[in-house]
Amino acid sequence: MSKTKSDSAGLAADRDLYSGLIRLHVLHHAADQPIFGLGMIEELGRHGYRISPGSLYPLLHGLEKKGYLRSTQHRNGKSLRKVYRATALGRKALEASKTKVRELFRELMEGE
Ligand SMILES: [Zn+2]
Repeated sequence: MSKTKSDSAGLAADRDLYSGLIRLHVLHHAADQPIFGLGMIEELGRHGYRISPGSLYPLLHGLEKKGYLRSTQHRNGKSLRKVYRATALGRKALEASKTKVRELFRELMEGE
């Protein structure tokens, strides 16, 4: 993996702006099927978000602390993998945010 200096600077600047979107994205996928850290990093990468394990794991823990995600340990070969699923509370929060995202989306795109 190669990273230029300007890339990481841009990422740092955008982190605050995107962190909510990333949380919603994580919650959306966790409501759909069990997710795990590295898989989620790849998924977010496909959407153009580059997030390191050092940023994603605290985010996952934060969502778990809020009661939006619940984690279980799964054996994956020799290692244990932490798998996250959305809780009922997490799904509720996701539903509520959909209305807000829809509204924001409409406003953002209106001017185009
Ligand atoms: Zn996705």
